[in-house]
Amino acid sequence: MNSCEVLVVGAGPVGTTCASRLASMGIRVTIIEAETDYTHDLRATTIHASTLEMLDEIDAADPLIAIGLKAPVYQMRDRRSGEFFAFDLTELDNFTKFPFRLQCEQFNMARLLTSRLAAHPNVDLRFGCRFVSMQENGEGTVATIEENGERREIAARFIIGADGARSAVRRQIGTQFDGFTYEEKFVSMSTDFPIHEVITDLAYVNYISDPEEWLVLLKVPSVWRVLVPADGALSDEELISDANKDALFGRIVGDRHVETTHRTIYKVHQRVAQQFVHGRAIIVGDAAHLNNPLGGFGMNSGIHDGWNLADKLWQVLRKGAGKEALDLFERQRQAVTRSFIQAQTIENMQNMGMAEGEVLRAKQEKMRRIHADPVARREHLLRQSMFASLQEERAIV
Ligand SMILES: Cc1cc2nc3c(=O)[nH]c(=O)nc-3n(C[C@H](O)[C@H](O)[C@H](O)COP(=O)(O)OP(=O)(O)OC[C@H]3O[C@@H](n4cnc5c(N)ncnc54)[C@H](O)[C@@H]3O)c2cc1C
Repeated sequence: MNSCEVLVVGAGPVGTTCASRLASMGIRVTIIEAETDYTHDLRATTIHASTLEMLDEIDAADPLIAIGLKAPVYQMRDRRSGEFFAFDLTELDNFTKFPFRLQCEQFNMARLLTSRLAAHPNVDLRFGCRFVSMQENGEGTVATIEENGERREIAARFIIGADGARSAVRRQIGTQFDGFTYEEKFVSMSTDFPIHEVITDLAYVNYISDPEEWLVLLKVPSVWRVLVPADGALSDEELISDANKDALFGRIVGDRHVETTHRTIYKVHQRVAQQFVHGRAIIVGDAAHLNNPLGGFGMNSGIHDGWNLADKLWQVLRKGAGKEALDLFERQRQAVTRSFIQAQTIENMQNMGMAEGEVLRAKQEKMRRIHADPVARREHLLRQSMFASLQEERAIV
């Protein structure tokens, strides 16, 4: 039977960063991925400064910066009036080495890190290898995996489930995945049409609120990505049809012909597992919590989970710490997930679609005050770049 100290299930952005961190600490890791290669996943485009600081510790920030776009400014716009507040992350340049959001699709991270993990002496990386089940014994766990049509076992002291929204590890743990699914789906389309030549005052990251059709416009190096709520009257097929594409871009850039390179529909959830740690199995990233993409917190918070967990496992495996280290991980990451990631993304969603009226005016006034006040603005920037949630996490002992 193969054995390792930590078995990581899933080679998405969260599994690969966590495995890289563990390997850099001298821990023997096996990482298994059900697909036969890293997945060409376009979902996440934003890497926040706090995450770049972590990636920098495993020498992964600079290679991603080299292929991504630095977005120092993000805008909160009102679609109807055109009014916007531009928040400038360079105001944090005395706080972070990376005063910007990096716009770079998530598959780039999985590609970079899996290629490095494959060559790392502490790592056994296996593609085409699916986690099936696990059993605990006193000293560790034995996972059953499926590889080349055969079932085998891998012994590990700990198992990390970084296997995404439909996590098999979460099912094994048997924890509740409480929360809700939004009724409306999200439609995402990518285009190399130069939207910035039509709406000339755009930043690379724009959250555009509107009661009828809010809009997110994000630039990555090769394309603009457009995210909108789906029209509930249309079928999935109609949502990604040419007719809907033309209608959508018509509302953005007028009577110009736009081709797309990619169209997808997403179901969006707000869910948190009741337990992240169960004995020797721990879930992180989308396996542990899901949120809407407004703010770019899902992948980033998953990477923050994996980073925290790697430190705790190092304390257990190298410093003789006991169960209390994993209990602390559970308390810290549950708190941040619930009080910041869930709360903020739910609020972001409400703000994007807010209708006219007193509540909307109060929100706009609040944003105006934050934007005009240097202290409040800095707090806002630290929160949105996810430094504040790391501070909150560290304050929990
Ligand atoms: C439209 C959209 C935009 C988004 N934008 C952002 C953004 O800008 N910033 C941000 O932070 N987040 C964003 N997100 C969220 C982000 O995409 C996810 O949070 C992120 O992909 C989670 O990473 P993960 O590694 O936990 O899971 P995944 O990326 O889902 O990776 C899980 C991996 O596990 C593998 N796997 C599954 N089951 C098994 C098994 N049984 N055995 C072995 N392997 C298995 C899968 O094949 C996969 O490779 C966005 C989401 C959406 C829908």
